[in-house]
Amino acid sequence: MIPVVGYENVRVGVLGLGRSGLSAARALRAGGAVVLCWDDNQEAREAAGAEGFECENLIKVMAELELLIVSPGIPHLYPEPNRVIAAAMAASVPVDNDIGLFFRSLGGGEWDALDVPPRVVAVTGSNGKSTTSALIAHIVENAGKPVQLAGNIGRGVLDIDPPHSGEVIVLELSSYQTELARNLTPDIAVFTNLSPDHLDRHGGIGGYFAAKRRLFAEGGPDRAVIGIDEAEGRFLENQLSQGTGDDRVIRVSVEQKLGGIGWNVFARKGFLAEWRKGRQVASVDLREVPGLPGAHNHQNACSAYAVCRALGLAPREIEKGFHSFKGLSHRSQLIAEEGGVKYVNDSKATNVDAAEKALKAFRNIRWICGGLEKEGGLGGLSEGLPNVKKAYVIGREAAQFAMQLQGIDVQTCGTMKKAVESAMKDAEAGDVVLLAPACASFDQYDSFEKRGDDFTQEVLKRL
Ligand code: ADP
Repeated sequence: MIPVVGYENVRVGVLGLGRSGLSAARALRAGGAVVLCWDDNQEAREAAGAEGFECENLIKVMAELELLIVSPGIPHLYPEPNRVIAAAMAASVPVDNDIGLFFRSLGGGEWDALDVPPRVVAVTGSNGKSTTSALIAHIVENAGKPVQLAGNIGRGVLDIDPPHSGEVIVLELSSYQTELARNLTPDIAVFTNLSPDHLDRHGGIGGYFAAKRRLFAEGGPDRAVIGIDEAEGRFLENQLSQGTGDDRVIRVSVEQKLGGIGWNVFARKGFLAEWRKGRQVASVDLREVPGLPGAHNHQNACSAYAVCRALGLAPREIEKGFHSFKGLSHRSQLIAEEGGVKYVNDSKATNVDAAEKALKAFRNIRWICGGLEKEGGLGGLSEGLPNVKKAYVIGREAAQFAMQLQGIDVQTCGTMKKAVESAMKDAEAGDVVLLAPACASFDQYDSFEKRGDDFTQEVLKRL
């Protein structure tokens, strides 16, 4: 745990008692703060009470608070501010989150005793955050260096162990987290890509981008790794660098060969290339890397590569890490291969952009899709569709969803059981049975993980 500094013997409110809220409450208490908690959910309050935390109506005690810590799921501005947060703003009580507390509390005097100060890598973007963060942590660990992974993935940031000499701390940060944190000072920051998501929470795409940009603006990282395949990435790169030769920015692309004298990492035709000072420094063949299929994963590989190079690792060490990376569950995850048919679980493809990337990563696809549709339906799905042999549609609104799939063979299945059964019956050598729903899971499952597990079980029991 990282005890929070600067709030000894003062009252701090914690709103939202999920994983990050509870971990913030514990770290505040460890640092000597007097913690008052609230969550609208009674079970969450009881769980906090069992750990000895006092639950209070925070609006009533607002005048006594020096700080309010808020969980990422609770809106502070759009679509409308939560009433406790609105009360804090009315009373001029500063609002922060666990990420802000983390950057405020990390390091300090005790780091003087370490031979090599730890370094913090923070990863944000619309898609690929988890994969890129986990890949960086895997490569660093594989190279024999101490590493901890936290944030939106795995553990809360304040739950990490006090870092050792030379340790690397990798944080995955969502737009909800970067928008509110009052301190954001990573050593290396990554912007993977940008596509519309969570627009209601950020008041539109501009607000969403502004939330992610804060990771680069507040304090400024020593190095910024920026995906420049969208206009927003190009803008950010332009704002941060003094020209192409400024190697505080490492540019990443999977759509173009990057020239100039700067530090660039790009992937084309399955090969990653690193260029610096106008010449090629290294190249890595990504075509047979099993845990990173498709151009979207090649983008993740480029971002992770750039970070690891900035951390001082050699290209061959990074390449070794690519090959031993198993991929994350539910993200383009190869779960089985039999009779020349591959079975891939990409249940995390909850939006059209992610599903489109999965469809472009494979050929001869028997595509299991459908569920709870996102705003805009299947609009935007185009380039991947020619790779689909047949679609097997699941979800409560399967028939309606199937009607949107024009020009390809479609079967309305409804359930995962029926979809897997039909796809496996039809599949022949060279085919890929792919779950990439392009929809949320909540019409039939509690989470995308449960949906992916159901797919996996239905496949494995038939093999
Ligand atoms: P995040 O943590 O940003 O949600 P994940 O690594 O969990 O990202 O991947 C989320 C979904 O997006 C998965 O379906 C995955 O296959 C897809 N994906 C992964 N990397 C990328 C990328 N670079 N661009 C677009 N889609 C991606």
